[in-house]
Amino acid sequence: MFLEQLICPVRHYAWGECRTGKRPPYIPDILRRDPGDLPWAELWIGAHPSGSAVVKSTGEPLEKLIQKQPMWMLGISQQENSPSPALPFLLKVLCCSEPLSIQSHPDKATAAKLHAILPKEFPDANHKPEVLLALSDFRLMAGFRPVKEILSDIDSSPALRPWRKSLPEEPTLAELTRFVLETDSAILKNLAEQFCQEAHTGIQAEQFQNLQEKYPGDCGVFFALLLNVFILKPGEAVFMQANVPHAYLDGQGIECMANSDNVIRAGLTPKYVNRKLLLSTLDFTPRPPSLLRVPHTEGDFDFACGDDFRLRLIQHSPYTRDKNVPAVFIVLEGRATVEADGKSFVAVRGTSWFAPASIRKLQILPGTNATIAWAEA
Ligand SMILES: [Zn+2]
Repeated sequence: MFLEQLICPVRHYAWGECRTGKRPPYIPDILRRDPGDLPWAELWIGAHPSGSAVVKSTGEPLEKLIQKQPMWMLGISQQENSPSPALPFLLKVLCCSEPLSIQSHPDKATAAKLHAILPKEFPDANHKPEVLLALSDFRLMAGFRPVKEILSDIDSSPALRPWRKSLPEEPTLAELTRFVLETDSAILKNLAEQFCQEAHTGIQAEQFQNLQEKYPGDCGVFFALLLNVFILKPGEAVFMQANVPHAYLDGQGIECMANSDNVIRAGLTPKYVNRKLLLSTLDFTPRPPSLLRVPHTEGDFDFACGDDFRLRLIQHSPYTRDKNVPAVFIVLEGRATVEADGKSFVAVRGTSWFAPASIRKLQILPGTNATIAWAEA
């Protein structure tokens, strides 16, 4: 097996993008597929057990091919690091026009424990650090605000007096969050309705209103006051460490993560939620957006996440893979010339590819106005 084109699975989650007027959703647009009336949420470019890409030439799942020839596909370093041969990362195109659930991802030790006890809800034993790189304006809420800011918002609202009354004079972030996660939903609904009838301005209150319209009384609505709400510009990215609460709200982006699907959810979703677990695992350190943002690098976007993955957006300069590690890439705009061990071909918009670690020399040359999302181990 050499450099192979992939057919990648699409996730049609309800929060995905639907056709609005003439504008097609982003994912079927790049894939040149008819969007129909479905929501298009995620395209998975990788080999995760619950959604592996298949190799176009043979129809075989990439996951199985990696297991058959681990040394060829993953290289020596990956073999040493992993007890069972698997691609250590997953690349996604993610598009949302509705909020995703309030969630965090467990650290490695917690993930292993959860997978052993609740294998259905936590499908693997891996942690899931993730980076989201915006392709459009991208709204999200993530990381706790400082206690002072949250209290100032609560104190300015007569409707939220019961919340304030339940707290000590100088509450911690954990105490502020506990009320939201443990209070009866009928009481929360009532508080949220009254808050929305008051005149509040600012991005936090606006997001609160917006969530209350979609999920009246859901505990997730109150996270609009607990977490930072902010908008990434195209080319900006955030990095989500383990146990940091977040919810993506609206926009198109590229997401790269460790090869895991472990999510601890609290609200804004019909999926399995576990508020107790979230409360006991959350990282209650306030993190302003500046700390969540990936620092801007000169030239093309480039971010390495420990031993798990490296994400690169190839737009302006040729990129030469400098280690013998497995890689995937997708051409989002324009076209790219790919040179691999003396062979050369053109990859066009919408195509995704897997490069085994054993290819000795691999270079991508972006064409004019091309954008290629690249992930490697
Ligand atoms: Zn997440």
